[in-house]
Amino acid sequence: MTYKDLFTNSAFVGSFPSYENLPEDEGQEIAFCGRSNSGKSSVINAITKNKKLAKTSKTPGRTQAINIFSLKDNPSKKLVDLPGYGYAKVSKAMRNEWAESIDEYLNLRTSINGLIIIMDIRHPFKDSDELLINWCEQTKVPVIALLNKADKLSKNKIVSEVSKAKKNLNNLTTKCEVIAFSSKDFFGLDGLTQSLGEMLGE
Ligand code: GDP
Repeated sequence: MTYKDLFTNSAFVGSFPSYENLPEDEGQEIAFCGRSNSGKSSVINAITKNKKLAKTSKTPGRTQAINIFSLKDNPSKKLVDLPGYGYAKVSKAMRNEWAESIDEYLNLRTSINGLIIIMDIRHPFKDSDELLINWCEQTKVPVIALLNKADKLSKNKIVSEVSKAKKNLNNLTTKCEVIAFSSKDFFGLDGLTQSLGEMLGE
């Protein structure tokens, strides 16, 4: 089985304002989460080889919706782009709304097969990232800690950051993996698509 083109030409299913609006809870989903500016949209674009699929933006906090994409050859398998978090300018009410919608998604959505937490490799494991990891531990949702922007570091530093991250997640009982990645030069793309494919049972 080659995973290389599994996510190429994924289709946009829709944009949903909150958990209640999501389509039927069926098939298999992998969700993507990350602080604003961690590169969540760029990672989704890199995986799907579509520069425009998840809009990238230099303006943090632009989108609060849940966006869903489905695999070209199997629409029951989906990538779910959850709202970003950690914007300084967002009100407390909006932050609570974010937490509620993600908490509901992780606790209630039976089609969830895994959560990808996208972090800047230079500043990983901020409070909200840790909160998500704890939710995954409680709900036994498998996690990939994706250390993005690896192009900003030397090869040695990448290895040491991956090893530090693995130590940090050492005591988790839910399935978990650490992957260094760059959506700029596609470092780690083959490994990531393989892990995502396996999560989706491909
Ligand atoms: P989002 O807010 O998490 O969806 O982040 P975006 O995908 O919009 O990216 C935020 C900024 O980080 C943009 O300026 C991107 O060009 C940049 N960026 C994203 N991924 C990478 C990466 O792997 N390497 C580098 N150097 N920059 C990146």
